[in-house]
Amino acid sequence: MKKKITVIGSSNVDFLIKTNRLPRMGETITDGVFMQTYGGKGANQALSASRSGGKVTFISSLGTDDYAGTMVRNFNAEGIDTRFMYKKKDAATGTAMIMLDREGNNYITVAPEANYLLTPACIDAALNVLLESEIIVLQMEIPWETTEYIYSLAKKHKLKIQFNLAPFRPFDDKVLKDTWVLAVNETEAEGITGLQVVTDDDVRNAARALVDLGAEHVIITLGAQGAVAATRDRFLEVPAFSVDSVDTTAAGDVFCGSLAVALSEGRSMPDALRFAAAASAISVTRLGAQPSIPHRKEIDTFLESS
Ligand code: ADP
Repeated sequence: MKKKITVIGSSNVDFLIKTNRLPRMGETITDGVFMQTYGGKGANQALSASRSGGKVTFISSLGTDDYAGTMVRNFNAEGIDTRFMYKKKDAATGTAMIMLDREGNNYITVAPEANYLLTPACIDAALNVLLESEIIVLQMEIPWETTEYIYSLAKKHKLKIQFNLAPFRPFDDKVLKDTWVLAVNETEAEGITGLQVVTDDDVRNAARALVDLGAEHVIITLGAQGAVAATRDRFLEVPAFSVDSVDTTAAGDVFCGSLAVALSEGRSMPDALRFAAAASAISVTRLGAQPSIPHRKEIDTFLESS
């Protein structure tokens, strides 16, 4: 039977223009190709968890525009429980503007809009769902007050939290003591620890520092270099699968969503990490965020043939 996972986080509509090169300040470039997609770390991780085999409830705050309606319909069609995808009156859905050049360099600006209207009361309304979940999956694109509230509920009811501390912004690190799995990339690890994370030794030191801050399992993802995982008494290297990468957007989100599913199924950490590495490797071979997210069958087949 599918295990229950609750993802609480952002939903965005992404407007992407790809040009040969990025503009300088004040410059207009007119050779762009336009693509509108749906994203937000919360939404990407919810979709990844659902496609990799979880029974997912997504708690998120959207506006009342047409984008919100389409997002909820899409997620319903994916089999995700959308009862707590709130449509906030008079609000706009979170929006990201992405400029991309042909080498994959980008400028991204985000307007959180309705994402910042996800209040503790929105979480309370879904308390029963949280209580039934094997894992609660969080990121950093909702109000910090709400994240702290979710942590207080998790502490009270002994719920497991997987926290992808992304994008990094200053926060109260006392929550790490109540974090079951902390997943970050190098930049976020640097932000939290204040340590430089460049060499293999740096990665080990940062992982150790994050364990010292209280997270039970620490995972640092390293793009095409794979990931490392640490606990108080273990250190594990997780190689990335070798694939032809065309777009790494949302690789971290696919990693987190699929990891939560594998862990919810009671797999060991090394097994779960291999599953997540496979899911994210598949996703980087395809363009776009949500369209690139693989299904369980593909992940299992990929693992069997690797
Ligand atoms: P983020 O997008 O959060 O920075 P990463 O770039 O570290 O996350 O990617 C997360 C995971 O996705 C990696 O640990 C790795 O398993 C996988 N991954 C990322 N890029 C590649 C790649 N080029 N080839 C294979 N796997 C990749």
